[in-house]
Amino acid sequence: MLTLLAGGTGTPKLLAGAKARVGSATLTVVGNTGDDIEIGGLLVCPDLDTVLFHEGGVLDTDRWWGIDGDTHETNSELHRLADAAGLDGGPRYLPDDQQTAGRELARWRRFSAVAEFLTIGDRDRAVHITRTSLIDEGRSLTETTAILADAFDVDLTLLPMSDDPVASLIHTPDGIMHFQEYWVGHRGDVAVDDVEFRGADDAEPSDEVLDAFDDPVVIGPSNPVTSIGPMLALDGVEAALDATDVVAVSPFVEYQVFSGPAADLMAATGREPSTQGVADAYPFVDAFVLDRDDSTDLDRPVVRTDTEINTAADSERVFGAVMEALNRV
Ligand code: GDP
Repeated sequence: MLTLLAGGTGTPKLLAGAKARVGSATLTVVGNTGDDIEIGGLLVCPDLDTVLFHEGGVLDTDRWWGIDGDTHETNSELHRLADAAGLDGGPRYLPDDQQTAGRELARWRRFSAVAEFLTIGDRDRAVHITRTSLIDEGRSLTETTAILADAFDVDLTLLPMSDDPVASLIHTPDGIMHFQEYWVGHRGDVAVDDVEFRGADDAEPSDEVLDAFDDPVVIGPSNPVTSIGPMLALDGVEAALDATDVVAVSPFVEYQVFSGPAADLMAATGREPSTQGVADAYPFVDAFVLDRDDSTDLDRPVVRTDTEINTAADSERVFGAVMEALNRV
């Protein structure tokens, strides 16, 4: 049995190789939920959904989010209505008093869907409607995710990191915005002072997640700040990782990031934006997989390979290096 920690791109890319090498039934994926938002009353869990859609065989792998070939009738109509009514586009964060009212899981990440700033496809939206409805019927996010995983015929076990609200908020010189407003709304083109995981002090990892940490853990290439950071902010997670074997794949080649805002967010939170910075952020990691062009000298065992994952063969090669690294701890 093996447990993988996942943001929205890197670990999902590793899944094809993991399944080919050890089989889905042995895998548990713990997904970050700090990126989740509520938009127009619907709870959207981007990192869980990428794994759900990947394992369901419907992921749009050009973008690594959304459903391949999805239509966007509702999204287009939301924009047409907003234009016709003269309403501004852009992320529309609801007023402060509404951030802690209503559905608890959506705290501090509640947006209006006027001129919807995420591009949500029609089939994709049906997932969010079902998820939100199951939560409103009284189920936890863990239970809800298992039901959706069944609907997509997912063979591995997919767990949200917590059933409690944790919101990744970006502090900028002009104020605080949710991660999705920063990344999707502003394409990351905003100065960042700090990153906060609001709610994390009162949030707990689920029992299922803590149980999954009894098995060896793999951190696929991930953003250490906004994908793994929210997990580490939960009580007991770092101690559990310290107590088990953990291998991480660097999301950098030395100082070069493959994609996403990891470098900017690491620099903003006082970390070196590099493989060394990742290793410093993960004192509980026992061995690393680095790119063969990455000569960073770490104080822990290292296995090198070409870590760029574009194909199933790449994924198998990198996962093979992960298994080799696990053998060295
Ligand atoms: P995101 O931030 O939500 O996209 O998702 P993740 O937390 O999954 O972060 C992906 C991280 O992995 C980014 O920092 C990328 O630099 C990195 N990454 C993306 N693709 C690859 C790849 O093919 N190989 C490696 N080694 N890293 C990758």
